[in-house]
Amino acid sequence: MCGIVGYIGTQQAAPLIVSGLKRLEYRGYDSTGVCVLSDDAMRIEKRAGRVKDLENIVDIASIHGSVGVGHTRWATHGVPNDANAHPHTDQDGGIALVHNGIIENYLTIKKKLESAGYSFRSDTDSEVLAVFIGMLYKTLGDLELAVRTALTEVEGTFGIVVVSVHEPDMIIAARRGSPLILGIGNGEYLVASDASAVISHTRQVVYLQENEMAILTRDGFSTKTIENVDTRSVVEEIAFELEQIERGGFDHFMLKEIYEQPITFRDGFRGRLNIEEGSVRLGGLGPVVDQLRQAKRIIITACGTSWHAALVGEYLIEQLARVPVEVEYASEFRYRNPIIHHDDVVIAISQSGETADTLAAIREAKLKGATVIGMVNVVGSTIARETDAGVYLHAGPEIGVASTKAFTSQLCVLTQFALFLGRMKAVSAQQGKDLADALEQIPEQITRILDNAEPIKKIAHEYAQASNFLYLGRGYNFPAALEGALKLKEISYIHAEGYPAAEMKHGPIALIDENMPVVFIAPKDEIYDKIVSNIEEVRARNGRVIAIADDDDEHIARVANHVIRVPRTIPMLTPILASIPLQLLAYYIALERGCNVDMPRNLAKSVTVE
Ligand code: GLU
Repeated sequence: MCGIVGYIGTQQAAPLIVSGLKRLEYRGYDSTGVCVLSDDAMRIEKRAGRVKDLENIVDIASIHGSVGVGHTRWATHGVPNDANAHPHTDQDGGIALVHNGIIENYLTIKKKLESAGYSFRSDTDSEVLAVFIGMLYKTLGDLELAVRTALTEVEGTFGIVVVSVHEPDMIIAARRGSPLILGIGNGEYLVASDASAVISHTRQVVYLQENEMAILTRDGFSTKTIENVDTRSVVEEIAFELEQIERGGFDHFMLKEIYEQPITFRDGFRGRLNIEEGSVRLGGLGPVVDQLRQAKRIIITACGTSWHAALVGEYLIEQLARVPVEVEYASEFRYRNPIIHHDDVVIAISQSGETADTLAAIREAKLKGATVIGMVNVVGSTIARETDAGVYLHAGPEIGVASTKAFTSQLCVLTQFALFLGRMKAVSAQQGKDLADALEQIPEQITRILDNAEPIKKIAHEYAQASNFLYLGRGYNFPAALEGALKLKEISYIHAEGYPAAEMKHGPIALIDENMPVVFIAPKDEIYDKIVSNIEEVRARNGRVIAIADDDDEHIARVANHVIRVPRTIPMLTPILASIPLQLLAYYIALERGCNVDMPRNLAKSVTVE
């Protein structure tokens, strides 16, 4: 959460920082601020609102100087207003800081500072850190030392960037729990929350490690731990292209990403799936193959959409590999002292690879001796680096806050993982081949759904003013129902719930009346008749039924009010195809309601705070 961009070089910093912030806005967008140094002075402009709101009132080109830092905020402490926006300064206004994360002991530090006569202008935890650094600087007279000393006293998480008029030819960056990368240019350096803010300047980056800090000047950079031990940094190349983080003619990133799915899904199995042999090669799992073969139990831990993918993964792995699987919310897992054995394998799923709760969960699992595998999208992210082995999703950058293509790529990878494990155990070459064949057809089947979005738009128009929605599915499609409901909640603010269809009778049926749209995921599988009975139960109570059904299902139109057709696939892959119309339905309903699809209220991509 929150976007950070810092720059030191020869160009004007302000426009460069602002254009970087625009690329990071999906990480947080309730306030924007910049600070630029010039001629021993510091100019700060900050406002509640989006980057464009700041641009509307401040002439960015009029801010001169070639060292600076900017921030887009996702508030944790204090409402989004001008005073709480970053950068924050120390008491004398000579040191400025932007911060991503939470300083957990800020109240203790604040009290100490207040009794020493310091006062505060904002309600944030971040300002306390800025003032603390300023106080330390007064006695230490060295910015780097002041930052380091302050950071050894703070608890919580931070990605920070500090600039100061006292030492104007330098930027200091440090991280613990929040990502930061350095962009290595020619006589210029950037620091940012993620690669999308630096790619238009340089493809060479250094991923700052946990507890590491960087000192950047125009002539170079050095890295060390917060405890002042020099570290060696590896310069890597950004793995994606600029066009991938641009909207490319679509109205929203979310729509673009929905339409990218035929490609991103294929990228998820390209070079991995061997259709002839019905097998999968997952190179990233090489170091842990033995542990996987011997695993007595698999625990999948994740949050949000990734947690829904994990639930599908549970069904897939148990079905194909016959290994017991448990799925845990990462936030619960980390705090309940989970029972973990050495022969457990823990899988962490996260689009960003930075999700704070998931990261903490894998650290807990590692501490207790489990083998830990990552399934993440962002190459080089913290989870990717801290796990014993992993499989990348290869979905490309996902900018829309509501996850779409990363979800289907997670299902693609989980299916292959289940097949990989299954082939070591009970799955025959022929069974493997049947599954691989079906998987290979998915991209073209997704294209067919995307080419026929008109009926979904009509349904969206009809139900856009509903106050509640119910999503029901069974088996593999129970998690798909949860995900459909989450998509709608996230971007349209309509209350929606997902349930296993048969559970409806145990409570939610009380909600059904003529105002309740109920979305059923009803592929023709072995429990099709049961789901049709559930549809009848809803209709008998005047509920309105929207069914997602196979394109050759003739019966369904007799029981449902609306039918959205999807191509037929094998039962285990049905949640992938069902997700596409569910994403489109949420998208078009949100549009009808005039919601900001890419930046839904209160949310942010990449949840790097607890
Ligand atoms: N905790 C800080 C605040 O509320 C930083 C939030 C962020 O990461 O954007 O201002």
